[in-house]
Amino acid sequence: MSWRAAGDGDTVGGVPARYVAEPASTEEASAVLTAAATDDLAVVIRGAGSKLDWGLPPRRLDLIVDTSRLAGVVEHAAGDLITVVRAGTRTADLDFGSQQLALDPRPGATIGGTVAANTSGPRRLLYGTARDLLIGITVVRPDGRVARAGGKVVKNVAGYDLGKLFTGSYGTLGLITECVFRLHPVPRARSWVTARVPAEELAGALAAIRGAQVVPSAVEIDRPERGPVAVAVLLEGTAEGVQDRAARLVELLGGTAVTEPPGWFGADPWPAGGVGVKLTVPLSKVAKLPFPLRGSAGTGVLYATATAESVAGMRAAATAAGGYAVVLTAPPEVRDRVDMWGPVPALALMRRVKEQFDPGHRFAPGRFVGGI
Ligand SMILES: Cc1cc2nc3c(=O)[nH]c(=O)nc-3n(C[C@H](O)[C@H](O)[C@H](O)COP(=O)(O)OP(=O)(O)OC[C@H]3O[C@@H](n4cnc5c(N)ncnc54)[C@H](O)[C@@H]3O)c2cc1C
Repeated sequence: MSWRAAGDGDTVGGVPARYVAEPASTEEASAVLTAAATDDLAVVIRGAGSKLDWGLPPRRLDLIVDTSRLAGVVEHAAGDLITVVRAGTRTADLDFGSQQLALDPRPGATIGGTVAANTSGPRRLLYGTARDLLIGITVVRPDGRVARAGGKVVKNVAGYDLGKLFTGSYGTLGLITECVFRLHPVPRARSWVTARVPAEELAGALAAIRGAQVVPSAVEIDRPERGPVAVAVLLEGTAEGVQDRAARLVELLGGTAVTEPPGWFGADPWPAGGVGVKLTVPLSKVAKLPFPLRGSAGTGVLYATATAESVAGMRAAATAAGGYAVVLTAPPEVRDRVDMWGPVPALALMRRVKEQFDPGHRFAPGRFVGGI
């Protein structure tokens, strides 16, 4: 496995790398990271690179470890509803027949990037996030040592949960090379109940959906600047069951049941190059956020387009509602002017974890919250 000199496109947040390595196995990745440790190289991991400009630019960067050759399904144990997948595999390429990895794939994203960013989509409501679906992991630590945790048994409880730690670590703790996931059966039928609800009636409508006992897989909203809020509820299951539950919801919300999701369902509301904010609030407060937003009213995870001037107000509204607001992506001129993360209560603990895994601060330095 050879390293190559970095080319024009090998930058992260505008910072150019010197080298790129493309390991094809955990062993090769271990050799790369051992060499990088010896030479004190700053490393950023690149999956599909689809969202590498998100977060802050690295303080320094020598080596991009690209996972595109670290791809493919290692195992699909259908009887156990388990799969082992290499980190560079594109989520959209996964096909388990009558079973599914219930992560809403983002365009182009890899398994490693999805786990490292703990991204979630509409169906998080029923299936959970990557963190919930991940039951085992293989990582290469910044010093080159390989570590494994969890296993191929759903009820496996490992003492030290490396999987939970690496989920959402944004490449700051090491390189994920393989993930073990639990799978779910592909539902036989799906239906989206869509309705338009006046903003002042949204809280009541969402409470009614929650109380209707229709077991939705997703409850999404798209709230424009003014006018009614679009609501879309995804129902999955047997054809008859879905039809029944859809009819009950249509009665409740006055909408229609359709077989395809609306175009906005699961899509980021900000334009390319725009400022994207992620808000999390308690379910009862979703309807109280007084600006245009889109996302999961079922889990309280919502997304909004912002400007440098509007971020603080959005964060104040989320905080007043008992939640948080994080700027996911922003062009450099905005990034320099706003606090991307806002207050982070667990920062001291996160710093201690970082110190344990990457005492040299070589992995994605400065990319994460608190300059981690
Ligand atoms: C700071 C940040 C916050 C984000 N928050 C959200 C969010 O809340 N919700 C959402 O839907 N999407 C979020 N995203 C987008 C998310 O990154 C992408 O949807 C998805 O990760 C794209 O996968 P990718 O393969 O293109 O990864 P990339 O864009 O190449 O990488 C994404 C992140 O994961 C790291 N990474 C990639 N592969 C590995 C690996 N094998 N081992 C260790 N680390 C790895 C990268 O260094 C980078 O930090 C966020 C992205 C970033 C950078």
